[in-house]
Amino acid sequence: MTTLLQTRNLSKNFGGLAAVQSVDFDLQQGEIRAIIGPNGAGKSTLVGLISGRIAPSAGTIAFQGQSITKLPAHARVARGIAYTFQITSIFANLTCRENILLPAQRAAVAASGLFGRVDEAALITRADEILARVGLGDQADTKAKEMAYGHQRLLEVGMGLALHAKLLILDEPTQGLSDSEIANFIDLIRTVSKETTILLIEHNMTVVMDLAQRITVMNFGQVLAEGTPEEIRANPAVQTAYLGG
Ligand code: ADP
Ligand code: MG
Repeated sequence: MTTLLQTRNLSKNFGGLAAVQSVDFDLQQGEIRAIIGPNGAGKSTLVGLISGRIAPSAGTIAFQGQSITKLPAHARVARGIAYTFQITSIFANLTCRENILLPAQRAAVAASGLFGRVDEAALITRADEILARVGLGDQADTKAKEMAYGHQRLLEVGMGLALHAKLLILDEPTQGLSDSEIANFIDLIRTVSKETTILLIEHNMTVVMDLAQRITVMNFGQVLAEGTPEEIRANPAVQTAYLGG
C-alpha cells in the first residue's frame, strides 16, 4: 500500500474553539475512506485544511510524500486534490459540457504550460466521455441550473475526473438526494474509485457502510476511532458517541 496523504498534528482553532485538534490522518492510495461524526465534529474543517481552503493553526500535510502544508488551494488542485462542497463549484448558467470543459482545460494547461497547445476538439471529446461516464451523456447541452439536484452532484464528480484528480474529496454528497439517486451515486463512486482515491464525508450510514473500505470517526475535533465498517460498527466508544448506543 502506498500512502497518498498524511497529516501530522494537524490543528485548526477558530478563536478559542479547537475545531481540529492534533489529527494524524493517513490515506492509502486507491481506498474509499469515509469520515463520520456528529455535527460540529470538525469533518468539514479537516477536509478544508487538506484542500487548502483553510489554513492550519499547527501541523503538517503531505501529499504523495511531499509537503503541501504551505501550498495555496489552487496549487493543491494542480497536484490532483479535488474538493467539492455542495454545488459551489458549478457554474449555473453554463451547460454540463462547459462545466466539465473548465476543469478539463485547467488540467490540460497544467500539463502543457499556459501557452502550450491545448487541442480543443480533444478536450470536447474528453468532456463528453466524462459526461457519459457519470451518466449525464444526454444532458451535455443542458444548463447546470436546469438540472435535477442529484444530477448536479454527478456533474461535480465529473468535474473532479476532468481535473485528473488523484484524490476526490466529497463533503456530504448525498445530502438531498432521493433513494434512487443515492443508489446511482454509490455505483458511480465505486466506478470512479478505480482511478482515484475517495475521501467522503457522509451522514447516511447506508452509504458509508456500503462504500467505505475504512471509516474515520471524528468527535470534538479529534479522531475517535478508525477501522473497517465492521470494526466501527462494533466499537463501543463509537456507539456511545455517535451511533446512539
Ligand atoms: P462538521 O463538518 O463535522 O459538522 P465543522 O468542521 O464544520 O464540523 O465545524 C467544527 C467546529 O468548528 C464547529 O464547532 C463549527 O461551529 C466551528 N467552525 C467551523 N468553521 C468555522 C469558522 N469559519 N469560524 C468559526 N467557527 C467555525
Ligand atoms: Mg460539515
